[in-house]
Amino acid sequence: MRILTLLISGLLGATLLAGPAQAAPVPTGKAALTQNPLYKTGEFDWTECVELDRRPDDLNSYQLYLDHLLDCLDRSWSEEFAQAGLKFSKPKVRYITKSVATGCGKYPINYAAGLYCPVNKTMWVAISKWQLADPDEFTLFNVIAHEYGHYAQDRAGILPAAMRLQKKAPKARQYAIQRQVELQAECFASAFIGSVWHSLGREEFDFQDLMDLTYGDVLHGKTKNIRYWMKRGWDGNGPKVCNTFTAPASRVS
Ligand SMILES: [Zn+2]
Repeated sequence: MRILTLLISGLLGATLLAGPAQAAPVPTGKAALTQNPLYKTGEFDWTECVELDRRPDDLNSYQLYLDHLLDCLDRSWSEEFAQAGLKFSKPKVRYITKSVATGCGKYPINYAAGLYCPVNKTMWVAISKWQLADPDEFTLFNVIAHEYGHYAQDRAGILPAAMRLQKKAPKARQYAIQRQVELQAECFASAFIGSVWHSLGREEFDFQDLMDLTYGDVLHGKTKNIRYWMKRGWDGNGPKVCNTFTAPASRVS
């Protein structure tokens, strides 16, 4: 009898773990923003993600460093998408040190640290002179985690739904939607960073420093709100705490 019970629970367990045989369709419209399946997944796996050593002004060591972080992000996000029942594959990434055409316009390297282009599903990460000179800096980690957040939004139907809404909206509303997109990507990034922090060998104040260095604008939200979503992601460790689309207006201003 005991064996039978074990067998049955084993079978049940296997069925539950296997998840749906077919991936669910990517959600569209308002539901994609407010009730996305990504908000029902668990925390990111408590996984190891060491930072590889970088050497000053050695671009190759920086590319290896970022490639390794990308592997960690692939692993953690694949798991979330599997839990959400959504299809997933790895994003494309390009590291750049000067202005280039991205498929979403020419990328001005001094304007932003990274960019995600939904047209070619590619993340563009700019490595600047000061970052190359300082192999202990932590901003690139945040940039790649943030742009990966936009890719996750794209795959989960959030980005297409937001862009569609923006098309018909007046300017102020377009900005408001953009802030919800950006604050969510920042929350996703911090949630991931929080989940691997234990393996990085950094002190907590590095993340505090990062928050202190972050300032807002009309497209990314007020400074206090960016820090609010960073902290929320960091404490929550998963995408489910990052629903900026049902948050009070004062949290996404
Ligand atoms: Zn962004």
